[in-house]
Amino acid sequence: MTKININDMLTKYNKKNLTIATVCSHSSLQLFNGARKEGFKTLGIAVGEKKKFYDAFPLGKPDEFFIVKNYKDILKYTDELKEKNVIVIPHGSFVEYLGAENFLKLDLPTFGNRNVLMWESDRDKERKWLEGAGLTMPQEIKNPKNINKPVIVKYHGAKGGKDFFIAKTYDEFRKRLKTDRSYTIQEFVMGTRYYLHYFYSPIQDNSFKLSKGGLQLLSMDRRDETTIDEVQRLGSISELEELGIHPTFVVTGNIPIVMRESLLPKVFQMGEAVVEKSLKLFGGIIGSFCLETVITEELKFKVFEISARIVAGTNPYVSGSPYSEFIQPDLSTGRRIAQEIKYANKKNLLNKILS
Ligand code: AMP
Repeated sequence: MTKININDMLTKYNKKNLTIATVCSHSSLQLFNGARKEGFKTLGIAVGEKKKFYDAFPLGKPDEFFIVKNYKDILKYTDELKEKNVIVIPHGSFVEYLGAENFLKLDLPTFGNRNVLMWESDRDKERKWLEGAGLTMPQEIKNPKNINKPVIVKYHGAKGGKDFFIAKTYDEFRKRLKTDRSYTIQEFVMGTRYYLHYFYSPIQDNSFKLSKGGLQLLSMDRRDETTIDEVQRLGSISELEELGIHPTFVVTGNIPIVMRESLLPKVFQMGEAVVEKSLKLFGGIIGSFCLETVITEELKFKVFEISARIVAGTNPYVSGSPYSEFIQPDLSTGRRIAQEIKYANKKNLLNKILS
């Protein structure tokens, strides 16, 4: 789907002088810090002006800023960026700010497989991928009249859980729905949330071996979502709803977490299945990805979403996590990405991990 010819682009690059670039937001401090630890030069793309707060974090600050008027303008400066031998690390905000279509057109070597975007952003395709891999997702309720248990209503394209709402009956659903927007209704899964941060390398298998390459678990987090996660300070949800105060799901931060060790085999089994299925469907999900899960009281995982690149939930682990510590001390996801690029460069395999 992308018409980018990665091999053509790379032949013009000075491979001894690669620069790791990303947009100054989301997980950029971690990405710049990780790239720096692996000996790369770094470049931060910022809108309007250099972001002053980086001065307070010298080890997370890019070596150079590249200022654009707005994110879409990045497309205009790709020649200039290529002269700097830039490899782009996309994160959630990067794709959101640039827009999916522009991201697919971006004429720069980009870490990961961009073809994953259509499988991740289309809820039907995502379900086909994850259920096809044997994962259990929350039940989808096609007809709102059939709501007979708590559901979560998700608007398509809504960022950070914006305007999502819970309903327990059809009547509640009808009252809350903003009718001009398309939406999905999912069973609201009762349990505890774990956001699992994996790393898949198609070119190195010195980890949990797959049919091709290897899988690592680098960390996990729980998102902190306002107001749902602290709403109980004011009263029960149903009490508040009677007053017209509804909980929201807007992400404000991330909390580190570990899970009981006996669940880890299942975590790897799910990661493996997702990667194997992605290899068949679109050539594979490369590098970091995150499964967003709820564990029920029967200790079963339900996966409600996949993010196909570095998630901000990795930010609590800039100097390693209780899992990455068993791979290598001081290993963040940002650093792991830089290592993958370094290894691929050394082995002349950059075209296997970039698109
Ligand atoms: P999402 O945009 O799909 O990541 O959802 C935003 C937030 O809504 C998640 O981080 C969860 O807290 C919550 N959520 C999403 N889907 C479900 C579900 N099926 N059951 C319970 N909570 C959910």
